[in-house]
Amino acid sequence: MVVIVGVRTVRTVLEDGEFFCPECGGDRRYQYGVGRRFLLVCGIAVLPVSRPASSVECAVCRFGFDPGVLTVPTGRRLTALLRDVTRALAVGALVAGGESSPAARAAAVAAVRDVGVTAYTDELLGADLYAHAGEDDGVEALDALAAHLAPGGRARLVAVAARVALADGPYRTLELDMLLGAGARLGLTRAEIDRVLDEAAGHMPL
Ligand SMILES: [Zn+2]
Repeated sequence: MVVIVGVRTVRTVLEDGEFFCPECGGDRRYQYGVGRRFLLVCGIAVLPVSRPASSVECAVCRFGFDPGVLTVPTGRRLTALLRDVTRALAVGALVAGGESSPAARAAAVAAVRDVGVTAYTDELLGADLYAHAGEDDGVEALDALAAHLAPGGRARLVAVAARVALADGPYRTLELDMLLGAGARLGLTRAEIDRVLDEAAGHMPL
């Protein structure tokens, strides 16, 4: 009698969703599950030969990852955060000064459009100012985004807000307070923030 012995992995899927796959480098569907290897005799699983191990499997490249990979935000989520933060910073800079300046408002609208919110208008900006969207929502998004940005990306965000602040003239005290606060929240040192603010001021036709 021929007895064919082998090993088969039996996987139970517990959940699925979208994650950023570090192997194939993009937002992918994943399945999170528990796999256990069984001894196979004549094609029938008879004995578990390993402890259950949980893993996340990419639907595209089929690589398996530790569940910790799910804590990394997807590209889609990072894009949304970047838009929220840019919008909050632009609104925050206007609230600190220049709310009624057409040049400052135009700079704020341009900053938000630059990050892909192409339908953003002065009217929407007005609604954001009215709702004071620059406050709480922005702080949360700022914290969530800061952890995933390289120093250059953090400086760039402060520069975006600085240009809005400068659009109607040199920095006001309240604008500087706002910019220093945002920079610190993003994890930049005081010297780094000062450099960004000086550079932005140097590029403005004052
Ligand atoms: Zn993948």
